[in-house]
Amino acid sequence: MEEWTIEINRSATKKEKPNTDQLEFGRVFTDHMFIMDYSVPLGWHDARIIPYQPFSIDPSAMTFHYGQSVFEGLKAYYTPEGNIQLFRPEKNMQRLNRSNDRLCIPPIDEAFVLQAIKQLVYLDKDWIPTAEGTSLYIRPFIISTEPFIGVAPSHQYRLIVILSPVGAYYKEGINPVKIAVENQYVRTVKGGTGEAKTGGNYAASLKAQELCSQKGFTQVLWLDGVEKKYIEEVGSMNVFFKINGKVYTPALNGSILEGVTRNSVIQLLQHWNVPVIEERISMEVLYQAYLDGSLEEAFGTGTAAVISPIGQLSWEDKDLYINDGKTGKISRDLYNTLTRIQYGKEKDPFGWID
Ligand code: PMP
Repeated sequence: MEEWTIEINRSATKKEKPNTDQLEFGRVFTDHMFIMDYSVPLGWHDARIIPYQPFSIDPSAMTFHYGQSVFEGLKAYYTPEGNIQLFRPEKNMQRLNRSNDRLCIPPIDEAFVLQAIKQLVYLDKDWIPTAEGTSLYIRPFIISTEPFIGVAPSHQYRLIVILSPVGAYYKEGINPVKIAVENQYVRTVKGGTGEAKTGGNYAASLKAQELCSQKGFTQVLWLDGVEKKYIEEVGSMNVFFKINGKVYTPALNGSILEGVTRNSVIQLLQHWNVPVIEERISMEVLYQAYLDGSLEEAFGTGTAAVISPIGQLSWEDKDLYINDGKTGKISRDLYNTLTRIQYGKEKDPFGWID
């Protein structure tokens, strides 16, 4: 296929790079972007790297109307030796294709898009920050571009990859957060799109997030969409609980997004001989574990923060102070090991680095 060649049109000028300590997540973008289009009967074609720039799109493009779009999020890191590393990027490519399938978007060639991402990152490598905890965030996404406002799968798409340098998530050390259990709104339901990384899931989450922030919480803990009894995710992270020496995480049930970090945490814990149990966890059972003193730690997992310990969980009129609001040992060990592997400071026994 013609798509294996990527045409490169380099930017004539280079933008000024931001000061690393002032980097806000997702506001600054690098000099180039990758684009590839899909149409019938060509399939995916016209793969190119061009200067980062706005592009024009028809107001009737389907993505604007019914939200047929998907995205991914991963990072590139500089090692102390000056090598560039990606962390399990093939997992993101696989998830992109699972999201595509759910949203009726044609599949991508995973190996090709990963190669394009590497080429783009390499071209903009001067944008990968080197200070402790910083990285280059990679955002691949696909939008439906056919000019048609009928409700149906589009026949035209555009895949774009943009890059954004990001500052350290924890500037003053890993820090436990206050979480509110969400009893009114739900993120998704089984059979819905929760397993896919599609914009609509995030649009649906904003209201609960806005209300919980007004009450002084960092994020919400999402419950299942039917009975509002079982724990699903925390904000846009997967969630784990250490109870009586064992680590529990909600089983993938059709409405939870399967995180790359979740999968890595499970593998790492098993490697350390810590029992990991993936099952349905109710808020009631968690509360009982808190009352009898067996709830030892709680934390979220995701690409942005890696590990985000939960110090306080508010459920109806009850406040659970977990591990006295401090970061627990498992949370800290997982954070340290995962970040050391990601930054090439520790041997990677799992073959995660690419
Ligand atoms: N759940 C949701 C809803 C998310 O958006 C994310 C971030 N992609 C995660 C979980 C964590 O996934 P990952 O570990 O792959 O970043």
